[in-house]
Amino acid sequence: MALEGKVALVTGASRGIGRAIALKLAQLGASVIVNYSGSKTRAEDTAAEIRSTGSEALVWQCDIADEQAVQKMIKAAIAHFGKIDILVNNAGITRDGLLMRMKEADWDAVLNTNLKGVFLATKAVIRPMMRQKQGRIINVASVVGILGNAGQANYVAAKAGVIGLTKSTAREVASRGITVNAVAPGFIVTDMTDQLPEEVKDKMKQEIPLGQLGTPKDVANVVAFLASEDSKYMTGQTLSIDGGMSMQ
Ligand code: NAD
Repeated sequence: MALEGKVALVTGASRGIGRAIALKLAQLGASVIVNYSGSKTRAEDTAAEIRSTGSEALVWQCDIADEQAVQKMIKAAIAHFGKIDILVNNAGITRDGLLMRMKEADWDAVLNTNLKGVFLATKAVIRPMMRQKQGRIINVASVVGILGNAGQANYVAAKAGVIGLTKSTAREVASRGITVNAVAPGFIVTDMTDQLPEEVKDKMKQEIPLGQLGTPKDVANVVAFLASEDSKYMTGQTLSIDGGMSMQ
């Protein structure tokens, strides 16, 4: 198995894309720390499914935007597993609205979770990864961080920031054997997108060259590649998984 003996921390792994990533990495042999901020039951479900593949799982609740809580999680994970080889910065939220009506609190909430959270978790794993002289960091950005999107100024700013942060971090740690890449999913069917009206989803499908919405597994498969030895000569890249939406 490609990730046998590896330890992966996946933020926001209780459901959706994070859950699919956690399961995929576990199927490939990795032990997984399942971070979440919402429902413990769903995080425990993810962990139970990981254990059913024969891999180990540790469930850890923490707000990814809280520096002390993030540091505590990384310490606990290293105390439990001895190391962290793979960090997947997946946790994210939306608070949509037109910019002229957007509340400062909605701007702050999205930037804190979606961008500052990536900074904090990355900062916390960098030293341990440097000591190990190897590591894989994979950030979940979004197609809208490349294209922009009306009604999502906060989310787009955060995701464009994640793409920039990916490149800067990649340059800073490349000489230490650590790679940092991002994925930019398009429209993926999860709880985050489930509430959208059917007519919006139908319109989206028409705008996607491959003609269908994506699944969490579509994203997880690419993240697994970026976590594996097969991607060892790639860093600072953002791979779009969007059915061709961002193709120009
Ligand atoms: P989701 O809402 O189904 O799941 C989000 C996960 O993040 C949950 O496990 C939740 O507990 C966790 N989370 C939220 N805030 C957190 C915090 N402060 N600290 C720790 N964990 C927190 O979302 P999803 O659709 O699976 O999205 C996952 C990632 O993919 C997000 O970064 C999202 O922006 C990105 N993305 C999603 C889509 C899509 O179409 N669904 C498209 C592009 C990018």
